[in-house]
Amino acid sequence: MLNDPALAAFREEARAFLAAHLPDEIRRGAARATSVFIDPAISLPWQRILHAQGWAAPDWPAEYGGPGWSEIERYIFAAECAAAGAPNLAPMGLKMVAPVIMHYGSPGQRAHYLPRILSGEDYWCQGFSEPGAGSDLAALQLRAAPDGDDYVLNGSKIWTTHAHFANRMFALVRTSSEGKPQAGISFLLLDMATPGITVEPIRTLAGDHEFNQVFFDDVRVPQANRLGDENAGWSVAKHLLTFERGGKYAPGLIGRLERLRAREDIDPVLRAQIDREAVTLKALQALELKAMRGVGGSPALYASALKILGTEAAQRIDTLACEAAGHAAWADADGQTPADLAVAVPRYLNDRAATIYAGSNEIQRDLIARTMLG
Ligand SMILES: Cc1cc2nc3c(=O)[nH]c(=O)nc-3n(C[C@H](O)[C@H](O)[C@H](O)COP(=O)(O)OP(=O)(O)OC[C@H]3O[C@@H](n4cnc5c(N)ncnc54)[C@H](O)[C@@H]3O)c2cc1C
Repeated sequence: MLNDPALAAFREEARAFLAAHLPDEIRRGAARATSVFIDPAISLPWQRILHAQGWAAPDWPAEYGGPGWSEIERYIFAAECAAAGAPNLAPMGLKMVAPVIMHYGSPGQRAHYLPRILSGEDYWCQGFSEPGAGSDLAALQLRAAPDGDDYVLNGSKIWTTHAHFANRMFALVRTSSEGKPQAGISFLLLDMATPGITVEPIRTLAGDHEFNQVFFDDVRVPQANRLGDENAGWSVAKHLLTFERGGKYAPGLIGRLERLRAREDIDPVLRAQIDREAVTLKALQALELKAMRGVGGSPALYASALKILGTEAAQRIDTLACEAAGHAAWADADGQTPADLAVAVPRYLNDRAATIYAGSNEIQRDLIARTMLG
């Protein structure tokens, strides 16, 4: 399907754009990134360049500023971006909260938030997990008590990626303790500059400051900032999680593996392992294309399956990159080591989290078992 001659012109247009407009310093910054969550100092300038071209949000409908591409064109664009070494854009705004604002937002919420997400003016973080609520997300306790036109929030969120950069958070809060835990949750859009919010850093195993614990101490949020009905936030969250988990893993992973493969100093045993992984990625790509066409399974089922396969492949590639890097992975004293090798170890460590975040892979396997086997 990807070789269809009718799509060749589109691929060439994307390739030519990337060659002309992806600045070297952004490409270098992306190559040295140790996480899939790229620092906004690198991702936001690239988002602005894409926005000027009308290409910042390939998945959005044209009426909200998307380019109006077909599924397969979006896939080709993602593959070309990965091959060119472009940074990932932050998913929390463009890929996670935007689709639910489109689906559940009032006309006023859509008109206010969507253009600011597209341009990068607003940078979002996701306030779902709490110290006592991760896999069992419905156990969340951050209380939002109604008071006049506002809610008053008390409690905390944890593992909040890029909360220290974000000026907005979308959050699940408890608005009722009656009935099933899922039935008392609401979905709020809030301003991180609101008095009473404190962001405390958490360092990862790799030494990065990527996520945080966020504390709420009598934080007033207008009820008008609720997305959907009160106590109906669980449906909004489930809708959003399909976008968080689904997606295109293969293009980025193929880009990484091809850069490893292109090295001439790889020993034959390792090369055979890399070649075997290339075949697995082709199978993953085939499954992603099938998911895009909606063949043979529900979006939620594909989202869980692709999350497992994509993140586990990423971890295998991390191991191959460390083996390829050898001594260079530890000693980049002169700064001359090729980026993929220099960051092999921190990336390996950072990527341990990939099978945990967005719902752990054990939970995804559980969902598949329940969906498929009843
Ligand atoms: C790098 C990173 C970034 C993150 N970013 C965000 C963010 O921006 N916003 C946010 O809200 N959250 C974020 N998270 C949190 C993430 O969603 C949770 O870590 C995840 O849902 C798991 O929850 P937990 O950490 O509480 O682990 P737990 O739920 O305590 O699970 C611990 C272990 O038990 C297993 N387990 C639990 N229940 C079951 C079960 N029923 N069956 C089988 N196994 C089970 C899990 O698979 C896991 O291995 C992030 C996490 C990481 C690691």
